[in-house]
Amino acid sequence: MAYTIVTKNTVRDRFLPAPRPDVWKGVEDKDWNNWIWQQQKRVKSFEQLEKVVNVTEDERTAFAKSNEMFNMGITPYYASLMDPNDPNCPIRLQSVPSIGELSVRDIDLEDPLGEEKDMPVPGITHRYPDRVLFYTTHNCPVFCRHCTRKRKVSDPSSAAANKQLEDGLNYIETHKEVRDVIISGGDPLSNSDDRLEYILSRLRAMEHIQVFRIGTRNLVTLPQRITDSFAQMLTKYHPVFVHTHFNHPKECTQEAFDAVARLANAGCVVNNQMVLLKGVNDDPKLVMELNHKLLMMRVRPYYIFQCDMAQGISHFRTPVEKGLEIIESLRGWTSGMAVPHYVIDGPGGGGKIPLIPNYVKSHEGKKWTLRNYKNDTFVYEEP
Ligand code: SF4
Repeated sequence: MAYTIVTKNTVRDRFLPAPRPDVWKGVEDKDWNNWIWQQQKRVKSFEQLEKVVNVTEDERTAFAKSNEMFNMGITPYYASLMDPNDPNCPIRLQSVPSIGELSVRDIDLEDPLGEEKDMPVPGITHRYPDRVLFYTTHNCPVFCRHCTRKRKVSDPSSAAANKQLEDGLNYIETHKEVRDVIISGGDPLSNSDDRLEYILSRLRAMEHIQVFRIGTRNLVTLPQRITDSFAQMLTKYHPVFVHTHFNHPKECTQEAFDAVARLANAGCVVNNQMVLLKGVNDDPKLVMELNHKLLMMRVRPYYIFQCDMAQGISHFRTPVEKGLEIIESLRGWTSGMAVPHYVIDGPGGGGKIPLIPNYVKSHEGKKWTLRNYKNDTFVYEEP
């Protein structure tokens, strides 16, 4: 029997292009879609910000007092997602300084993940037995206000010079137990294609390296960075995993959809690491919507991170119960693929500690009394 196949795939149409605010209406598409133009035109001053949104007095004060500690930098693309009239807009909360940043509590930590103490050579964090984190740049297209590496990111004195890069590569080369390298920063896609390809080619030439992951938020903040030629370059070095950081459904635009498609079509696996942030995504329905959108974009929701104890971000931290509530609202109620791992990074360098709601009601000998997602009870007996 002959089948008539009519292909109609409209998934992409479910994602809207980012709007273009008045201030950039006259920009030609060839510039707007060019990642270098986007980098060069980043919103860095308060005067520029005032042209994009109706700023509040709190934002003005916060900018004046925080900019020296942690710069503001927002790509026109990401700024275009901001609601000009809502200071609580989730995009704005993530990218415009707020008063909360100015308070540092006694319990806050400068290096919340203890990365510096597990650093055998500058730029390499070697904490787990078989994998390392490789710091390759201090720069990012957008300086996220909730960044856990504020102590280094945006600070030119933390730049990864070529000598540091070589020392890091040499360390990995001589440590045969390392099979997985997380290429990080800052945002590693702030490096040029040539510099990134140099790193990837060196790593791929090492027999003991099995996989590497590129940890980048460019898919969210500067999707134009994922050019066809960049994606094509990656195909030479598979398996390449890309770990990104979508936090809100508003970030799932057609531009982001296309950027992920370029990577996925080039054979990359793309995972998402959401950070749980008060006022941005501490809402079970919203996280479900985000995860559904991510799956349609071919991004697997992988982690939800509890917000770290970094200095100046305590206003973003939620109770731990909120994370458990979100997982409980996903598990069973939607596809397992849309249920990420909820983890707390052990403060001071404990590594990722998973947290899951308790589904065990009791356990006696070989008998386990369990509840399912609807709270119905089931008994499982071991042989
Ligand atoms: S992209 Fe990542 S490293 Fe850069 S500012 Fe945002 S959270 Fe920090």
